[in-house]
Amino acid sequence: MSNNNSNYTNPAYSNGYEFSGGAGYELPTYPFVTPPELLGAPPTIYPVVIVGGGMSGLTLAAGLAQLGVPAVILDEDNTVGVKGASSRGICYTQKSLEVFDKLGIFERIKAKGVEWHIGRTFAGNDEVYNFNLRDRADFKLSSQPPFINIQQFYIEGYLVERIAQLGVVDMRWQSRVSACTSNGDSVNLQIDTPEGNYQLNAAYVVDCTGTGTPFHKWCNMPVSSIKRDDRWCIADVRFKVQPPTERHTWIEAPFNDNRAVWQHLMADEVWRIDYQMRPDDDPAYVSREDVLRERLAKQFGAQAECDIVWVGPYSYRSQLVERMNAERVFFMGDTAKVVSPFGARGGNTGISDADNLAWKIAAVHHNRAPAALLNSYHQERHEAASVNVQVTARTTRYLRPNDGAERLFRDATIALAKQHSFARALVNTGRMAEANPYTRSGCCTYNHPLVGRSVQNVAFTWCNGQAAHLNDLLRWANGNLLLLWFGDLPTTSAGKLRNTARISGVHMVQVVGKVQQTSAVEAVHDATGALAAACGAQQWALIRPDSYLAATGQTANAQLIKAIATALALP
Ligand SMILES: Cc1cc2nc3c(=O)[nH]c(=O)nc-3n(C[C@H](O)[C@H](O)[C@H](O)COP(=O)(O)OP(=O)(O)OC[C@H]3O[C@@H](n4cnc5c(N)ncnc54)[C@H](O)[C@@H]3O)c2cc1C
Repeated sequence: MSNNNSNYTNPAYSNGYEFSGGAGYELPTYPFVTPPELLGAPPTIYPVVIVGGGMSGLTLAAGLAQLGVPAVILDEDNTVGVKGASSRGICYTQKSLEVFDKLGIFERIKAKGVEWHIGRTFAGNDEVYNFNLRDRADFKLSSQPPFINIQQFYIEGYLVERIAQLGVVDMRWQSRVSACTSNGDSVNLQIDTPEGNYQLNAAYVVDCTGTGTPFHKWCNMPVSSIKRDDRWCIADVRFKVQPPTERHTWIEAPFNDNRAVWQHLMADEVWRIDYQMRPDDDPAYVSREDVLRERLAKQFGAQAECDIVWVGPYSYRSQLVERMNAERVFFMGDTAKVVSPFGARGGNTGISDADNLAWKIAAVHHNRAPAALLNSYHQERHEAASVNVQVTARTTRYLRPNDGAERLFRDATIALAKQHSFARALVNTGRMAEANPYTRSGCCTYNHPLVGRSVQNVAFTWCNGQAAHLNDLLRWANGNLLLLWFGDLPTTSAGKLRNTARISGVHMVQVVGKVQQTSAVEAVHDATGALAAACGAQQWALIRPDSYLAATGQTANAQLIKAIATALALP
């Protein structure tokens, strides 16, 4: 059903401010294309409709496109980012970069973004501690670095282009969902566009509309939410003389009335400086260009010349949905949980939500798994969301402690950390996002400590000696489970395994040391043993398309067949 009366209005600025001092950011704009429904196409039920083209929705759309699921993605705006908040996410973790590598945009992110290794934490005029990520034992295990800093909208723009290139998903701009009802077998959405309103039916809807989502109300989804009084001001700045490419954090910055300050380099030689403000500061005042320039002069000296690229205030809340889905409507990214930005756990975990759901929806769509597989999205990603809410809440209380015990604890840890290394672990300026482990998923067979954990994108070589990484095998498996068999493969087991793999659609590969003979059809070399170690060093490993280890074991027996069934929620 459609009509040509349009209820569409341009999106409002999310925070009420449109600050863009200096040069500002130039975001790409995308055209509205009249959808088939407004041209009289007969009603259909789409397999998936994604609502919201931010970081989570676009990652999901790219994942589905790569796995051949013809989804529709709708966004109310005509550009990337959220109106009025163009500068938000900056720090992307190894797990997210591995996902982007799988989706084919990592090289662009690497070329544009900034890798950093050294972090320094200060209190007053003292350096409390520092770290170098290159000292970490796992630094070079993945083909992706621990972090890349880049403005969020660049990644979103790359995803938009990748989705268009893959050509399977229909991306619709200036298309606002204004109502949603479930009808048992499908979900009905009302869409407002500049050319008129229409309805869409979908087997599954994924709500990626961010913190202001209307879907919680439409789906009667209980949400727990806490808003604290911490206030910040973002300044994106380009200096004439560059500071060192290091991440600096001040728990107490003398040049900011002893409140916190963050300093990071991003793409285009733009620095993100986050200033913690007084809870009662006026957001419009603290974001004024002249006020910001005073603050910058106190930090970098009056002579430090710079352009202000973007400035805006922010506050945050902590929020968690009771469930990650209401029947056929799934919550993803900021609609599932909202966290403070410390530790970069917002966008990064939205990307993992998308990576988790994409292969499951694809498996159900291609009839490789029953719809019951989708239940594991709640089991796994709600656990991750709860942990992320807890971890970031602790950082928030460290950075804005209540008077009394919290303040006392913080002062004591700072004083101790200056002298004793054990106390540095207690200084909490943000625990960086990680690939959350799943400890109670119905789709994992918990027979080894690494089960339910993400396997890094480690290196191996193809039989012809060419270098490759785990993601190459996952791409080859094309949304199916990947079974790695390490070492010799007895002839009797080879036949049995081939049969099992054929029936279940599992893609099997024999992984051998450089000198071993291979007996499987597909074989690769793991001369350093890095791949075997990353999978738990057993005889076989069952890896999901999202790189998580579903099970591992020593023999090709009934347990392996059961583990495959469990991973796909087969009855
Ligand atoms: C200051 C700051 C710094 C941050 N730093 C980091 C960081 O370093 N790393 C990190 O990982 N995360 C960071 N985050 C968090 C990160 O920005 C968010 O977690 C992330 O943007 C969430 O993505 P999303 O796709 O879930 O939602 P959003 O990015 O909010 O996208 C929602 C989309 O839905 C669309 N939409 C809304 N309503 C409708 C509707 N009714 N119909 C159709 N479309 C609709 C909007 O136009 C928008 O495109 C930071 C956040 C802030 C505020």
